[in-house]
Amino acid sequence: MRLAVFDTHRYDRDALEKANAGFGHALTFFEPRLTLQTARLADGFPAVCSFVNDRVDAATLEVLHAGGVRLVAARSAGYNHVDLETARRLGIRVTRVPEYSPHAVAEHAVALVLSLVRHIPRAFSRVRDWNFSLDGLVGFDLAGKTVGVVGTGRIGRVAARIFRGFGCRVLCYDVAPDAGFERETGVRFVPLEELFSASDIISLHVPLTPSTRHMVDGAALARMKKGVVLVNTGRGALINSRALLAALKTGHIGGAGLDVYEEEEGIFFQDLSGQVLQDDTLARLLTFPNVLVTSHQAFLTHEALANIAETTLASVTAFERGEPLVNEVRAEQVIRAPPASR
Ligand code: NAD
Repeated sequence: MRLAVFDTHRYDRDALEKANAGFGHALTFFEPRLTLQTARLADGFPAVCSFVNDRVDAATLEVLHAGGVRLVAARSAGYNHVDLETARRLGIRVTRVPEYSPHAVAEHAVALVLSLVRHIPRAFSRVRDWNFSLDGLVGFDLAGKTVGVVGTGRIGRVAARIFRGFGCRVLCYDVAPDAGFERETGVRFVPLEELFSASDIISLHVPLTPSTRHMVDGAALARMKKGVVLVNTGRGALINSRALLAALKTGHIGGAGLDVYEEEEGIFFQDLSGQVLQDDTLARLLTFPNVLVTSHQAFLTHEALANIAETTLASVTAFERGEPLVNEVRAEQVIRAPPASR
């Protein structure tokens, strides 16, 4: 099947071409993100492949539909960038890659925690300047600390297990607490407000939905322990960035590790060196020595890329053959949980 792949980078192309040897689809790679402005590039294609910062909203879907697109194969776990209601109305099927490597993302979250807690970025740049002083680099042990894991799906569970391995006490919050996981791993499910107030480290692993948007706002940050280390590898808008900025300025937040940012669209995945960064909140966040930003790279391992490519192309094959789409997402599946309690 002819597949228009948007927002393609070299690593995507390499992985998709390698996997496609076993599928034989006709892949056309486009560098731009899929938006209303670029949707016409897919004219005549029955299927498009999107990524996290594409904007597959109602208007874009209308253009895709008019051009003949009947499948949006998202090569991501999250699908908040796709307007599922409109897709359903237009008869466009949507698939995703629900699990490609929970380890990749969970391990990146832990890498952010360790980097912040042990001041690795500062130490790295210091010694390269032949400054071998240790002043200002005092960290703390993870063993014995309390870690809050928000969202215990595929990724959150792996993160919780890793933190247990460090000897941490792990508190979890999820709309669907799992007593079996609790018994098996020694974590404890608690209400969100308790997790926020009792944790030394907090790691976010819920999807972005109307009920999780800004679940970390000014009130939530105020409830957290002074010096808390907050890590977000979920979706940027789980955190109100301006509230985070304010809490960093007062020194209430001890460290923030952000792999995602609520206004990352159009910034992350791009090389903007030499240009003026127009996002004042991000620019200010990047000035803090205790803030570590990575450009939505938690998924970026060889294993994850290979699994993403394999699962995406398998969905395209199933669609082409009229077989059941095991990784389909539908509007009615989106969890409509009440606002996160706290
Ligand atoms: P998952 O679907 O396996 O788990 C999500 C968990 O969140 C579930 O247990 C669900 O019950 C829970 N949940 C949903 N809504 C909730 C709410 N309102 N309050 C509390 N809990 C809620 O998903 P996953 O594979 O673990 O991925 C989690 C998120 O991580 C994805 O949705 C995606 O946004 C993000 N992600 C980021 C990257 C990256 O590169 N940074 C890569 C993959 C996934």
